[in-house]
Amino acid sequence: MRRASVVFSLLVAAVLVATGCGRSPGVRAAGAHPLTPASAAPFSTSSPSIGSHGSRSARLGGEAAAAPEAPAPPPHGAAAPVPDRAEGHGPGGSMTTMGSDAVALTFDDGPDPKSTMDLLDLLREQGVKATFCVVGFRVRDHPEVVRRIAAEGHTLCNHSWQHLQNLAQRDDSYLMWDLESTNAAIRAAAPGARIEYFRAPYGNFTPRLVAFAERFGMKSIYWSVDDQCWLTARYGVGPAMTSHITSVVQRETRRGGIILSHEAGKPHTIATYRSLVPWLKANFNLIALPTSQPPARPEGRRAS
Ligand SMILES: [Zn+2]
Repeated sequence: MRRASVVFSLLVAAVLVATGCGRSPGVRAAGAHPLTPASAAPFSTSSPSIGSHGSRSARLGGEAAAAPEAPAPPPHGAAAPVPDRAEGHGPGGSMTTMGSDAVALTFDDGPDPKSTMDLLDLLREQGVKATFCVVGFRVRDHPEVVRRIAAEGHTLCNHSWQHLQNLAQRDDSYLMWDLESTNAAIRAAAPGARIEYFRAPYGNFTPRLVAFAERFGMKSIYWSVDDQCWLTARYGVGPAMTSHITSVVQRETRRGGIILSHEAGKPHTIATYRSLVPWLKANFNLIALPTSQPPARPEGRRAS
């Protein structure tokens, strides 16, 4: 039994490393930081979707069907009208906009002890707050990274325990366990942290999953801009990728937008945002997704 659990955990970790979290196939970046596998989940997770999760062709077809396109953005930029609704336009009723004129940078699939830390350094240097959608077993494995995310005033978002593509199809007892376990890991890492947002793996929201997240006091967030940093098979991880991400973000970002990106195992993301964040700052008000109270500082840490 123990051996089976370890094997499963290794499989989950391999799938997460090999994929991104957007609607489309992710390919592990060359030189990406290897991640520690999860330990066993207490629920049976022998879903056949695990096997196909890493299959590029399977994911392409499945996700195209599962995650409708976000609404087309209005014409570019600062002159575009401010959205009058904060939520409800995405799959399952998830949020695609902020409901204000601010723009939210969101980074998925961490925490990663290397790339998340590098990104936090970058954001600190730039004086920018962002939102981190973290995966439960990685929170458990790297609590110090989550502690720093909270301590530096960023917003935390539940990105499920083990990034199942078919999370929305799981039964109630599994969903309860998954979302609660992830929140518990976040709270253990950063006591007092506000956890008011949820993002389904791959954006595979359904009304039921959105309602489930609401039971935990979490709003479901989709995105209005997918920076496509996972398209490494097409653009690699060097200048061509930086050029692509920059082009997408500069073309598609509007006031009120939510930008989807991934930092875990994707150093090219950090390299790109080094130049892109100054552009975003010059054109938009970048904020972390707002919480009902400011993020709490971890206990036992100095306030200064
Ligand atoms: Zn993801």
